[in-house]
Amino acid sequence: MQASTCTACRLCEGRTQVVFGMGDPNADLMFVGEGPGAEEDRQGLPFVGRSGQLLDRLLLEEMGRTRDSCYIGNTTKCRPPGNRDPQPDEVAACWHWLDDQLELIKPTVVITLGNFATKRLLDTDVGITKLRGQVYPFRGGSLVPTFHPAAALRGGGAVLAQMRSDFVRAKLILDGAGAA
Ligand code: SF4
Repeated sequence: MQASTCTACRLCEGRTQVVFGMGDPNADLMFVGEGPGAEEDRQGLPFVGRSGQLLDRLLLEEMGRTRDSCYIGNTTKCRPPGNRDPQPDEVAACWHWLDDQLELIKPTVVITLGNFATKRLLDTDVGITKLRGQVYPFRGGSLVPTFHPAAALRGGGAVLAQMRSDFVRAKLILDGAGAA
């Protein structure tokens, strides 16, 4: 089955389209977020709203890169109605798509954005506030957890500063100086 026609969970009912992911399939850096918002659902692309603009800014300012050199995906590929949190059964139903993306791209570094992606990929119930600030081994590479950009948009300077340091941490790994 193709992702664009997937009906494996109830999120298919309210979506405009499946937002599978975007970027370079050979990228050494992959971002995994939560799920599409309204703008992402409309355009069919991940992180194109305000959160995406902040992601682009941090990527450029802390890592000197643009999104074209990365791959960007989400934990769930369809928009939860009203931007509610994805439910555990929805995350579980969508997992195989993300699993396939991770296997195909095989990034050197995965940056997880927020609780949902971090908990799913590290298979833990520990929250992002406790998990961030460290590097974790992940499928032969490294995983760097950080906050979702939406949290920085809500939470202001302190959250943003921590995100910046996490992006620098990821850059050090990619530069060969800081693997898990
Ligand atoms: S969220 Fe994932 S599992 Fe659910 S319908 Fe969309 S693509 Fe399928």
